[in-house]
Amino acid sequence: MIELRRVSKTVESGGRPLTILHPLDLSIPSDRFVAVVGPSGSGKSTLLGLIAGLDAPSSGEVLIDGTDITRLGEDELAKLRGEKIGFVFQFFHLVPSLTAFENILVPMEIARRRDAVPRARRLLDEVGLHDRGHHYPSQLSGGEQQRVAIARALANDPPIVLADEPTGNLDSTTGRHIMELLLAVRRARRSTLILVTHDAQLASLADDRLVLRDGRPVETPVEALP
Ligand code: ADP
Ligand code: MG
Repeated sequence: MIELRRVSKTVESGGRPLTILHPLDLSIPSDRFVAVVGPSGSGKSTLLGLIAGLDAPSSGEVLIDGTDITRLGEDELAKLRGEKIGFVFQFFHLVPSLTAFENILVPMEIARRRDAVPRARRLLDEVGLHDRGHHYPSQLSGGEQQRVAIARALANDPPIVLADEPTGNLDSTTGRHIMELLLAVRRARRSTLILVTHDAQLASLADDRLVLRDGRPVETPVEALP
């Protein structure tokens, strides 16, 4: 369960405060698939970063299974994030000096899992890359890199997966395959998925949609999604 209570974000811009997310209340039960849509600059990535604890809100509380992550110290937050949250980015964010296999190992090594190596193998299989484990990110296509990133996000079986325009940097066919994979792994694990997307058709598949505009939620019927 994810709960946001009056969460806002204000940054300094040109010496003036700029509110990029206005106070927002949001409740996302476990197992939900929520699509976040809205024009570029509407605050979607900001919102995802706040839910993931990658960024601190200017006000409000972010509760993950009842724990207010805004009150956690750095180590506690990193631990909670490692256990509960998998993040998939638009530009993959793989470690370039590590192979695909080693990238998937990272979160499990941080969590000190003893079964890290066999799990990494299984995850590589699951994302369709069983013969690509020894390749470095630069030797992989965009779609393959995103498959590695999805495997890495799932490494510790997090109950929550956050994906910020995961197909935004891929051609449409590859993007469709990546989304099919993401939805399939989510179904298999019954994880909560919060997906930022520009794809109205994809957003219509979600259980709920949050439409943002200028840092505020707006009521928009599915047919009129941007
Ligand atoms: P989206 O993901 O919907 O495109 P973002 O959440 O990335 O939007 O950004 C929302 C707005 O806040 C944008 O106008 C962006 O330029 C601005 N913004 C984001 N982070 C900062 C920052 N650290 N400093 C100044 N402006 C920022
Ligand atoms: Mg964004």
